[in-house]
Amino acid sequence: MERHEYDVVVIGAGGAGLRAAIEARQQGKRTAIVCKSLFGKAHTVMAEGGAAAAMGNVNPDDNWMVHFRDTMRGGKFLNNWRMAELHAKEAPDRVWELEAWGALFDRTRDGKISQRNFGGHEYPRLAHVGDRTGLELIRTLQQRVVALQQEDYELHGDYEAYIKVFAECTVTRLLKDGDAISGAFGYWRETGKFILFDTPTVVLATGGIGKSYVVTSNSWEYTGDGHALALLAGANLINMEFIQFHPTGMVWPPSVRGILVTESVRGDGGVLRNSLGERFMFNYVPDVFKDKYATTEEEGDRWYTDQANNRRPPELLPRDEVARAINAEVKAGRGSPQGGVFLDVSSRLPATEIIKRLPSMHHQFKELADVDITKEPMQVGPTCHYIMGGVEVDADTGAASVPGLFAAGEVSGGMHGSNRLGGNSLSDLLVFGRRAGAGAAAYVDGLARRPVVSGVEEAMAEALAPLERASGENPYEVHHELQRTMNELVGIIRKSGEISEALDVVEKLKERAKNTASTGGKIYNPGWHLAIDLRNMLLVSECVAKAALLREESRGGHTRDDYPVMSADWRRKLLVCSAPADGSEVTVVEQEQPGMRADLLTLFDRGELAKYLTGEELAEYDAALA
Ligand code: FAD
Repeated sequence: MERHEYDVVVIGAGGAGLRAAIEARQQGKRTAIVCKSLFGKAHTVMAEGGAAAAMGNVNPDDNWMVHFRDTMRGGKFLNNWRMAELHAKEAPDRVWELEAWGALFDRTRDGKISQRNFGGHEYPRLAHVGDRTGLELIRTLQQRVVALQQEDYELHGDYEAYIKVFAECTVTRLLKDGDAISGAFGYWRETGKFILFDTPTVVLATGGIGKSYVVTSNSWEYTGDGHALALLAGANLINMEFIQFHPTGMVWPPSVRGILVTESVRGDGGVLRNSLGERFMFNYVPDVFKDKYATTEEEGDRWYTDQANNRRPPELLPRDEVARAINAEVKAGRGSPQGGVFLDVSSRLPATEIIKRLPSMHHQFKELADVDITKEPMQVGPTCHYIMGGVEVDADTGAASVPGLFAAGEVSGGMHGSNRLGGNSLSDLLVFGRRAGAGAAAYVDGLARRPVVSGVEEAMAEALAPLERASGENPYEVHHELQRTMNELVGIIRKSGEISEALDVVEKLKERAKNTASTGGKIYNPGWHLAIDLRNMLLVSECVAKAALLREESRGGHTRDDYPVMSADWRRKLLVCSAPADGSEVTVVEQEQPGMRADLLTLFDRGELAKYLTGEELAEYDAALA
């Protein structure tokens, strides 16, 4: 078996992983980047709309405090407020840093980085490159990795002396020495050969969990690996009940159902209509947002050209609100022919402008659905897009509770509370990727001795098990049943009975998954890879369902039909998942969210806080003002 020694092993080569690796290498650490897909193929590359950062380029009134407020509102105040603060303060520097490393953002007329509108953001805030922002972000970060490798060649005669990429390599277990991380075990996807990383630190940057659902914008590798690796290593996951169903995924044809239709379509003027032609979002503005959104179509339309004197249209409410509204319209029989609603930009912008601003969307609909979005509306519906829940980390360093384990990006939890604002993920990756890389480097510096690898035999036996069974369950069937169950029973609208039913199914599927058999040997065998990934998807689904059953309220990305409103009793409660190393059972316990620092509380007006906070928290606010 191949064996490599590193100071820092970053699992994941999306925005969070690359930014973490760059930081660790810049701090002099020997760093490995491991990714199960091709280098350059990560969710980050698919990001369309942009990275949210309060640079104030388009509206000078924007600043970190407005961004912080928007983020907390979007997350319904369940966010880790320290993370939201760091994110809002540091995002502009991370975007400018990207520019210094060669990123070519779209510009304003006076040559600054252009910023676009997005749901829940008070001002135009998303730095973007057309609707292909993620591609430019990844290109730039990869270019930075190559630049560092060239420096290393000059100094050490070896491009890979300090930073090396292991692509198409899947990590299946984290290894420990006592309580602390000592390594990571995995296999090469192409040959099936095993690989061992001897390392005192692991930064998890593995992205999301969407492949537990049938209808999702996520691609094949988002099987919740990092979430499960952390859980099995003894770390906690928080906020797992909060899943973002993006309001606009493609609904037709069935082969592309779930593929994302960027929010930029609405940010640039697109409107949602039902089968009666009504702009139904005006009927779905919740009380907490009533004073911030237009009440007439005329006012909403004026906002695109005069934001100072008009309120934004309700199509730009946070995603959870828009997704629920679409769901309700379809349920009420006012949906489009293929089971979604209409998203129309064709009657709102000239064709040339649509092609200029939304080139990928134009191409996507033409190629995949034979729809010309400059001439006719799209049909769209909710799709499982993003998980707000993830590894519980220290806000400043990205450290998980297991010594030597760090997490950043979508796999970490807390930053976005119960619902993420669009654009806040790309900036999250940059801010917390950098912090986790620095956190890991500092941890290595503080180590008295290097931990010793153990548990390799067990990890190997676990990985080989599906190949060694002569016959057994088909991993594809188990996967399909899991996806259907999660979609139908723990989806956008949830009920106690249905969630319990889902948990029974997950329990049975866990037993079946222990008996999966994959024929065909170790060389590029996707059936075997799926059999290994099932453990992760099942564990993550158990966390989501158990937390969803416990949280008896509706908040952000968790909507309970039987508890349809936000409840003061749940205001400060976080649900924390843990599991033993064999993953036999997930335990979920309540934990109190730490109270917000007084100077941050005073950024909000009291009337607004009263809509969200407990009496105790309001008393703190009053004391801070006194
Ligand atoms: P990813 O970019 O998802 O990368 C994960 C990495 O981990 C990959 O390299 C993968 O191969 C690797 N990996 C996973 N498991 C393993 C394993 N077991 N072993 C080894 N490697 C592993 N957000 C925004 O802010 N703005 C947008 O405009 C936007 N648009 C989006 C559009 C789409 C279509 C999608 C799907 C998401 C969008 N998002 C957007 C969300 C955002 O792109 C993601 O949340 C973000 O890119 C996640 O980045 P990450 O670095 O955490 O992980």
